[in-house]
Amino acid sequence: MANKLKKIAPRFRAPKSPGRDGLMPDKGKKDGSCNRTACQRPLRGKRQYYMRDYMVQDGRLYYCEPCEREFTRWDRIDRPGEELRCTLDPTTADGAAQ
Ligand SMILES: [Zn+2]
Repeated sequence: MANKLKKIAPRFRAPKSPGRDGLMPDKGKKDGSCNRTACQRPLRGKRQYYMRDYMVQDGRLYYCEPCEREFTRWDRIDRPGEELRCTLDPTTADGAAQ
């Protein structure tokens, strides 16, 4: 029998190491890594904030608390009177403050 095309199975990376693009595979996910590329802090066990994003399937991108503080600070300067972009996920509110 001819051994024609041998398909190479897609490789799956370990979930906790950044890919070749420097991005964590769980970036922006709840209990994953902060969605800010310069940060990508692990979120599990911490307070987590989400930003609505209609471009992603579940509509939420998650950030750590220090990043949330920065976004909120900028929102108050750039978009006074408008709704803040980051919202605390109440299911993570018992997590240790940083
Ligand atoms: Zn962060």
